[in-house]
Amino acid sequence: MIKLHDLEFEPFISEREITKSIERISDKLNQDFGDKKPVFIGVLNGSFMFASEVIKRFHGDCEISFVKLGSYEGTESTGKVRTLLGLNQELKGRSVILLEDIVDTGNTLVEIDQILKKAEVEDYKVVTLFYKPEAYKKNIPVDYIGMEIPNKFIVGFGLDYDGLGRNLTQVYKRKENKMTNIVLFGPPGAGKGTQATILKDKYNLVHISTGDVFRYNIKNQTELGLSAKSYIDKGQLVPDEVTINMLKAEVEKNEGANGFIFDGFPRTETQADALEDFLESKGTMVHAMIALEVEDNILVERLLERGKTSGRPDDADEDVIRNRIKVYYDETAILKNYYQKQDRYFGVDGVGSIEEITERLSTVIDKLMK
Ligand code: AMP
Repeated sequence: MIKLHDLEFEPFISEREITKSIERISDKLNQDFGDKKPVFIGVLNGSFMFASEVIKRFHGDCEISFVKLGSYEGTESTGKVRTLLGLNQELKGRSVILLEDIVDTGNTLVEIDQILKKAEVEDYKVVTLFYKPEAYKKNIPVDYIGMEIPNKFIVGFGLDYDGLGRNLTQVYKRKENKMTNIVLFGPPGAGKGTQATILKDKYNLVHISTGDVFRYNIKNQTELGLSAKSYIDKGQLVPDEVTINMLKAEVEKNEGANGFIFDGFPRTETQADALEDFLESKGTMVHAMIALEVEDNILVERLLERGKTSGRPDDADEDVIRNRIKVYYDETAILKNYYQKQDRYFGVDGVGSIEEITERLSTVIDKLMK
């Protein structure tokens, strides 16, 4: 395992496997271009190591240019014009071999394709050491492929993470974190807390309820509790910055957890963005938002009933309850769309017995954990 900046990487493709791929590609290039005096074009920075290995093995006459994709401001109508910086020869009528370290979305390829066509090359072929079929969305043919790889973040053999790792002689992939993280979602009174308590034991997850953390802090009269109390008593949201920092601290306390059930967080888009970035920095993500869907009048009834025993001032007053539900629809409900856009939203009927609802939630979680 190695660490580059803040991220951990584990060995993925050995030097030997890389060399075998390069030899196979080089044999084919010798067969197909041995007498064509091709111009190799290596796309910097990533391709320098691969290019040097290919060139060493090419036996015919050839030339090489290393280029970077640059852009300059064109006229108002042409906008940004893409160019190949560092191209030091005429390509018209030449046989060009483009050397790429990796083709993933194919965006760079599209840009270069246009430039080469404009330069009136005789023909050109695309050679890449690594190719991500799951990520590639374009239709420019990739003619010579060293290795197909899954859609993972890799470094080494010329490829970098934020500048580091290019010198590694084998390829590493981002260390995977096998956590399962769920946002349990729904309006106040939907049953998130009840279900989270059951699910955390069933799936060995850590349950973080931001509401519970606030109440604990209020009870203990901490600084955080004092600053949150006035908002909570009115049924308003505590400011994002306070809530986000608190949530991060709770996650940090549980290093090595199998995953988290977030209950009552995120409640705003700012919080959702913060959670994405934060989990990403830990090599993981929100795998699903699972929402308990319950009608408003049932919610009010449930909360008033709960207020008789919960000791929560915000459950005792119907106006405060209604305000919490209103805040949910005004500020929080939009998060359904946030996760739905990425196919991570699952709605579950929140009316029924506790066991029935647990069963419905478990069906979704079991699929996530498969
Ligand atoms: P809950 O126990 O989830 O119903 O939360 C009770 C109260 O705590 C809410 O009405 C808010 O005032 C506050 N709170 C809990 N979670 C958050 C959050 N993610 N963002 C802002 N305020 C929150």
